Amino acid sequence: MRIVVLGGGFGGMATVRHLERVLRRHADVEITLVSRENFFVLTPLLFEACSGSLELRHCAQPIRAALRRARFIEATVESVDVDRQLVRAVAAEGGVYSLPYDHLVVALGASTNDRLIPGSSNALTFKTMADALVLRNHLIERFERADATADAAQRCECLTVVVIGGGLVGVELVGELTAFVDDVLRYYPRIRRHEVRFRLFEAGPRILPEVEAKLAETAARVLQRRGVEIQTSAAVRWIEAGRVRLDSDTIDAATIVLTAGIVPSAVASAMPVLRDHRGRIAVDATMRSRSHPQVWALGDCAAIPGPDGRPYPALAQHAIREARHLAGNIKAVGDGGAASGFMFRSLGTMVSLGHTRAVARVFGVRLTGFPAWWLRRTYYLFQMPRWDRRLRIVLDWTVAVFFRPDITRVDLRVEREQVTQARQFVEKSMEVARSAQPGMALPATSSNAMPRMAEEAGQGASNRGSMR
Ligand SMILES: Cc1cc2nc3c(=O)[nH]c(=O)nc-3n(C[C@H](O)[C@H](O)[C@H](O)COP(=O)(O)OP(=O)(O)OC[C@H]3O[C@@H](n4cnc5c(N)ncnc54)[C@H](O)[C@@H]3O)c2cc1C
Repeated sequence: MRIVVLGGGFGGMATVRHLERVLRRHADVEITLVSRENFFVLTPLLFEACSGSLELRHCAQPIRAALRRARFIEATVESVDVDRQLVRAVAAEGGVYSLPYDHLVVALGASTNDRLIPGSSNALTFKTMADALVLRNHLIERFERADATADAAQRCECLTVVVIGGGLVGVELVGELTAFVDDVLRYYPRIRRHEVRFRLFEAGPRILPEVEAKLAETAARVLQRRGVEIQTSAAVRWIEAGRVRLDSDTIDAATIVLTAGIVPSAVASAMPVLRDHRGRIAVDATMRSRSHPQVWALGDCAAIPGPDGRPYPALAQHAIREARHLAGNIKAVGDGGAASGFMFRSLGTMVSLGHTRAVARVFGVRLTGFPAWWLRRTYYLFQMPRWDRRLRIVLDWTVAVFFRPDITRVDLRVEREQVTQARQFVEKSMEVARSAQPGMALPATSSNAMPRMAEEAGQGASNRGSMR
């Protein structure tokens, strides 16, 4: 039997790990996991990776390290031929995989909904590790700019952060960003805290529709005390570069982050199987496609009916439980038995607000402040598959308590551009030297000598720049 799992996120990783466990005596079963990146991201810790209280890589786990016998392929799934039962995936270097399956598990997740508001491509998103890094760099750069200018309008724009979408991700993000800014302001004595504006826009009547109204009110109060301006029933109509437009207002902001909902993975939505009105794969309670029994789906890209007929929410805690059940169902079907329906009652919801504060309802108990924050952190720490990663996370958290925040801005794109420019500079200098003295022997023609020279030339170039 060949089982192919698509997506190395919460749903896909947990499915493969449970399959490995329940099928450990079935040596004839091949399990293959295909994912775009070779790591799994613990998204609830992304906020801290953005603020710097956690090293970016530590909110991720290398997939290979967490697998026992499953084969892992790092590739982007392009399409699924459900009639021939073949997955087509393409690796970064261009290699094409054609993977046959007997059972296909689709756990390709979702992406930020950029179809809702025109101009969404002008906003940053917050879904991946790259998003967290880009936002962090972007904020630090805006602080540097604000620090360097006396122009009031420019300072105001640089120091205004707009978050669009007051759901779980938007609220947690704005909470963590207030903590981040309070921490880093000690490095920018020319910037006053009141100059930094956080604006959270929510189209619905209240923030945090995922939690009960009372908790949402508490969260709103905590954020407002830190200066976050929350506007509900405020639909953003248009996003431009550095500007958002509402019905009655236009706001200039150098940082605009879009967290207004998700859409299922484009590949899952394009699969020729039955889907719901939002493009999610329509499955029955056993998580089997309603149109193609060899296809199973879970997580954010699947519409799994709960006991009341409504689909389960797009949350990690659900994806993890779904995965365990789905693996058991595949084993049952493989053994000639029947799959059973998935039923899960949420354990509760926890919302971090940064600054060691959170709100939560867990097993019916309402928690706020530090206990809620501690519980959330501890719960997600144990969702990291391996102990080595958990230990690194705890070390990062401990270091963050005792030391100043790190505002190093690592921008690989800029670094690469600088190396390229330096390399071009060296090549040009060599060209000039050659034409001046045709017989001269030039040292650095070997490919490994070139980067070193380029670096040195880059150093020289930047020194010259600073002397001007
Ligand atoms: C910032 C943030 C914070 C969150 N916090 C919480 C929280 O506190 N609690 C909670 O319960 N939920 C939280 N969530 C929601 C949670 O992350 C999702 O519900 C969960 O990740 C869904 O799991 P999944 O397996 O369906 O998708 P994902 O975990 O997103 O995994 C999808 C995987 O598929 C891969 N993939 C996608 N397309 C392709 C392709 N074409 N080819 C190959 N691979 C592909 C992706 O790289 C990824 O590895 C948060 C989400 C975000 C963005």
